[in-house]
Parts: sequence; structure tokens; C-alpha cells
Amino acid sequence: MSFASLGLIDPLLRNLQDLNYQTPTPVQAKAIPAVLSGKDVMAAAQTGTGKTAGFALPLLQRLVQHGPAVSSNRARVLLLVPTRELAEQVLQSFIDYGRGLDLRFLAAYGGVSINPQMMALRKGVDVLVATPGRLLDLHRQNAVQFDQVQTLVLDEADRMLDLGFARELDAVFAALPVQRQTLLFSATFSDDIRAMAAGILRSPVNISVSPPNATASNIKQWVVPVDKKNKPDLFMHLVAENQWEHALVFVKTRNGVDYLAAMLDDAGYAVDTIHGDKPQPARLRALERFKSGEVQMLVATDVAARGLDIDDLPLVINVDLPIVAQDYVHRIGRTGRAGASGVAVSLVCADEAPQLAAIEALIRQTLRREEEPGFEAEHRVPQTSATGEIIKKPKKPKKPKAPNVAPGASQVPGKKPRPQSGENKRKPAAQRAVAVGKGAGSPSGNPFSAQRPRSKPASKPASQPTAGSRKPAGKPAGGRGKRQP
Ligand code: AMP
Repeated sequence: MSFASLGLIDPLLRNLQDLNYQTPTPVQAKAIPAVLSGKDVMAAAQTGTGKTAGFALPLLQRLVQHGPAVSSNRARVLLLVPTRELAEQVLQSFIDYGRGLDLRFLAAYGGVSINPQMMALRKGVDVLVATPGRLLDLHRQNAVQFDQVQTLVLDEADRMLDLGFARELDAVFAALPVQRQTLLFSATFSDDIRAMAAGILRSPVNISVSPPNATASNIKQWVVPVDKKNKPDLFMHLVAENQWEHALVFVKTRNGVDYLAAMLDDAGYAVDTIHGDKPQPARLRALERFKSGEVQMLVATDVAARGLDIDDLPLVINVDLPIVAQDYVHRIGRTGRAGASGVAVSLVCADEAPQLAAIEALIRQTLRREEEPGFEAEHRVPQTSATGEIIKKPKKPKKPKAPNVAPGASQVPGKKPRPQSGENKRKPAAQRAVAVGKGAGSPSGNPFSAQRPRSKPASKPASQPTAGSRKPAGKPAGGRGKRQP
């Protein structure tokens, strides 16, 4: 099947050729004709399926072919997204696909000044990509009116509800013209999403494509069981041992992000971070620098998980599993796109068994486990299965205590002796390509609640090419603007 056979006009086909899109993805093959015909669409599709082009291409065509020119302070297509990052990404897609079409596009989101957005809206825009809160602000201030809206698109509708935008969405729906086309894209369809869809869609075309990435065979996924306190050390060890040079790293908390970023920085990597406390321009800068290769390791919290558009990213490292299983699929969605092969490795501790079970149930596969020698988990991660079960081993009957157990020997039959204090479980430092500083684990057992190590690691391999000289050649080594304020 070709894009031409879907009824797209020449300027769009030329742009697709320039982007080297040869054939439509399944969601595009279904969505493009439906949207072109003016019907409502409800699509179960997530990041990585090509869904953005699935709605952007036919909407661009309809904008060119139908309806009057846009008036001032109006928008013809209103596209709602959950995050600023996704807003920027979708905007970029419209710019790429709509090159040469003489249409105006704008992304409007919070966290940045509203004034430039108000100025840009004065002339009117054909496509307004917005987060719900900022859109309502603009509407309340009369910077945008909705009477010319011909199409409403909800992208990642499930995520918008997860983020608590239900009320804002209702307020937007209430203010829109009743006569319009509505497209709803969501990775999951909970009862809430279905209820919302029932209220805003009219006889929609239903489109469903199977989860693309988590189950894709071109992504090598595995889990490394490890004790929580050893996660940072294990992470650094894996990065060095596998010579991973460009990776998106996910951590649960902002502290964790800063902590790992500091370790990577100490080990000589060019690193940047994305988290919720960071101003939007700094986040976008971090992303750009990562995409360009100037930054090797981008350490992020969930806030960055959706909406990042990074092609051909070879590696995603989950230092913590996401709380919401769906986010795993979104994270992994960064790798192995459009046929590229990817690697996704997750460091999992015993506490995370429920999350692991939920993820395996969602992707309908049990993830392979590979312990890393020297980092074996003392707190065993319970067995999980693709049915979402946590398999508890039956308790062994108690046996009478053996007398005269030697120090260091096993106290419990069948259990490995625990290392005595001072006994180093890990490989000797010389064996590790990247040495990590003391203090990786805090007394509370949460390695990320500790401050970053004050001193550089004692055995930092200054002369080892594996870790000491990883920053990309030709990039400024010092003022890399590592972590933003
Ligand atoms: P999306 O699911 O919309 O986030 O798109 C995922 C990625 O696939 C983006 O980087 C697109 O540029 C790319 N893409 C979308 N459609 C195609 C296609 N038909 N051929 C090649 N790449 C595509």
C-alpha cells in the first residue's frame, strides 16, 4: 500500500518522500481515509505506531481543501495533548508534513510566558496544539475563540485523564461548536475514557492496532533483579561493561535523576536531565542536545516519558519501573521505532514485583531475568508471570536448627550465606570499568534519598578510555550546562 493510494494530495506526498516514509503504518492506513472523509475516529494506538501522521496528514489536507481561511484569534483544528513535550513534538510533525502548504501552526502550553502565544494567536492559526490548562487560560482571556473549530483531536487521552485534566477537558468540550469532527487517540481504554468518548464522538470509526513496541521482536528486553540500594552501582556497572554510549535513563524521583546524573557526570559522560521541576525551555534544550548527540545520557522522570520523539534510540534503561504499567510501553516506545532494533533493560528490586507483574500482564510476556554477577539480589524479586500473577513459593517446613553453625555459613537450609559486614559482594574495583563512589546507598535503604557523593570516586579511571573519555569529540567538555538550575 502507498500513501498515494490513501488519497493524499501531491504536496503531502512530496513531503513524505522527503521524510523517507515509504509505506503507511497500520494505523495510518486505517486513520487517513477515515479522517479524510470527515468521520469521527476512536483509535487505540500509542506512541511509536505512527499515529501522529495518521491524523496530521488528513487534517492538513482537509485544511487545504475545506473551509474558509482562519480569522484572527481563531483556530480551525484544536489538538489537545497532555504534556508540553508532546505539544512540541506534534507541532513539529505538522511543520514537517505540512511544509509548503501556507498554513499556520502553534503550540501553546503552560510553564512559559503566555504573551507570545497570545500574540501568535492574533492572526489566527490553522492548527493549535495545546495542553488543556493553557488552552482554557487563552480562551478565558479571549486570545482564542472556538467558533471556527472544525476538528477536535485528543491525543493520548488516557494520559490527559491520568494527569487530572478531566475538568478542563469538559470545559473545552462545552465551549466547542457541536458541528465538528472529533478524533480521539488513546493507548488504553478505561471506563473513564469510554464514557468521555461516548459523550463527544458521533458514530466513530473504531481503529485498533496492536501494541507496537513492547511486544516487538526487534526490541531486546530484560530485567536485572537487584537490591534497591545497589541500583546506582549496578546501573553504572552495566553502562560501563556494555559500553552504552547513548541512552535514555528513567528514574522514579527527581532526587534519583540528579543522583544518577551526578554519577554519570563524574564518570565522564555528557549528561543532562529532564524532570518536572525544570523550566520548560531547559527541558526542551536538554532534549535537543540529547537528540543531536551532544548529550549522551538523558536522565528523566516520567514527565519525559511520553511525547519524546527520538528516532532510532538504541537503548532505554529503567533504573526504576514506572508505577503505571502503561508507561513502560511508552518508555520502551522510544526504542526500536520504524524497524530499528533497540534494547530496554530494567533494574528491578523486590518491592517492584507488583509493577513488574502488571507490566508483564500488559505486554503479555514474562520478561527474561538476568542477574548480574556481583549484584545478585539478597531480597529475591518474587517470580511473576504474564498473567499478572506474583508467584509466591510455598513456605518450606521449618527444620530444627543445626547446632554449631560456623560464622558466615548458611543459617537457613538452602539459603546462600549472606555476606558479612565489610565483605565486598561486588567485583573488585579494578574489575569494574566505572568505579562508583561510596554512599550510593543511604541508611534508609533508598539510594536516591542520599545526596550525591561529594567526592569523585576514589578509583575513577582517569586513563581508562572506556569511561574517562566518553564525551563526544569536538563538544565542549567543561561548560556543558550539565544540570540545569
Ligand atoms: P508516532 O507514533 O506518531 O509518535 O511516530 C513514531 C515515529 O515513526 C516518528 O518518529 C515518525 O517520524 C515515524 N513514522 C511515522 N510514520 C512513518 C512511516 N510511515 N514510515 C516511517 N516512519 C514513520
